[in-house]
Amino acid sequence: MSAKDHIIKLYGTRGSATAYSIRDFLQRSDVPFQWIELASDEQARAEASVAGLADDKLPVCLFDDGTRLERPTLRQITEKLGWFRNPSRAEYDLAIYGAGPAGLSAAVYGASEGLKTVVIERSAIGGQAGTSSRIENYLGFPDGIPGADLAERARDQACRFGAEFLVMREGVRGEFVAGKGIGTLADGTKIVARATICATGVNYRRLNLPNEDSLVGLGVYYGAGMSEASFCKGQHVFVVGGGNSAGQAAMHFSQYASQVSIVIRGDSLRKTLSEYLVDRIRSSPNIEVLSQTEITALDGNGSLRAITLKDKRTGESRTVDTNHLFLCLGGSPHTQWAQDVGIVRDEEGYLVTGPDLLKDGKRPPIWVLDRDPYYLETSMPGVFAAGDVRHGSVKRCASAVGEGAMAVAFVHRYLAGA
Ligand SMILES: Cc1cc2nc3c(=O)[nH]c(=O)nc-3n(C[C@H](O)[C@H](O)[C@H](O)COP(=O)(O)OP(=O)(O)OC[C@H]3O[C@@H](n4cnc5c(N)ncnc54)[C@H](O)[C@@H]3O)c2cc1C
Repeated sequence: MSAKDHIIKLYGTRGSATAYSIRDFLQRSDVPFQWIELASDEQARAEASVAGLADDKLPVCLFDDGTRLERPTLRQITEKLGWFRNPSRAEYDLAIYGAGPAGLSAAVYGASEGLKTVVIERSAIGGQAGTSSRIENYLGFPDGIPGADLAERARDQACRFGAEFLVMREGVRGEFVAGKGIGTLADGTKIVARATICATGVNYRRLNLPNEDSLVGLGVYYGAGMSEASFCKGQHVFVVGGGNSAGQAAMHFSQYASQVSIVIRGDSLRKTLSEYLVDRIRSSPNIEVLSQTEITALDGNGSLRAITLKDKRTGESRTVDTNHLFLCLGGSPHTQWAQDVGIVRDEEGYLVTGPDLLKDGKRPPIWVLDRDPYYLETSMPGVFAAGDVRHGSVKRCASAVGEGAMAVAFVHRYLAGA
């Protein structure tokens, strides 16, 4: 069953972090849902069948077959959608970790070319791309395409070719023995495969401010917060970051918010943002760019109330009221598992592949084969990296998709023993 067949009603109160995480997951997974914000105890009793707004059964998820989940975890929702599965095989040809554009592309090519393929994704399918309101520079979509839509199409395509998806599962460790990779998932499940593609992208960077953890989902959001746009009607929204993701988020929020402020440390968006977005931002009357500015404090108890902005030129600080802060600060890769098995990473943790592994023409000491590593192969034969997690990658949807497809070509060569 496709995600689009489900219609979910989600009842909850404003400012609930759990409700936010469910909305975010459903939005990124391209599952249609209706958010019903409960404003009074009477409404809570009548519509959600709970005692009142303070009832700890909230949020409540109501599925179209009548199933009711109270304060569900994302895993329970995934199970209800029929997406939570155990691996069907004892061994695969190809295990792909991460279902962003790189992993999805690898899944389509791997499965369509006859490899028994499994994809392991710890969260929603689509990765960073799934959080984008509209990807406008992806080949073949002249009007742009919402990232979640693109991801859902790719998932559907990969499934039609027989790829297996294990969602809400996280790869935490790897062992590589006698031509096999054995991945251990957070719940202890083992995935055995003859070749592995790591397409785990990057994790959002944080501001590292006191109070930040307690306000996540309660006014402070990592990424472009697609599901939250309609809650920003008439409000002053802050977006931090100077990359395309921040630019897109600002454009999207400007359709709802009265004012959008983009906060950047640098002096101009020109150096970091695509030209088309710079032009659009310039011509949007309700978007301002606060350059050479940083956020130094978050204020709020239970939900974000205000932020403190420091102008780096003058050293002056001011506090501004806001309930919505979106952090589009890029990310860093989480590849501790690779370090644990001696796979070569760069100083920031990105996986080094192919020619970048050679120093003065010499292969790394850990490399055991009598050939150079293939272009997207890591220092562990049969383990490939594609997309944002790879050292030197371009950090674009199309290039992640290209690398996913290319990695599969090298998987074939590796499996053929060439
Ligand atoms: C808001 C936003 C807008 C963007 N807009 C554009 C755009 O318009 N054009 C463009 O070209 N690019 C855009 N980008 C960048 C583009 O989305 C990324 O370059 C692309 O998604 C990278 O793909 P990826 O598959 O390498 O990694 P990701 O998209 O980061 O996907 C990695 C996946 O791996 C999963 N994962 C991580 N660790 C594990 C683990 N241990 N086990 C299992 N799964 C794991 C993650 O949950 C994630 O789903 C945008 C990015 C953002 C955030």
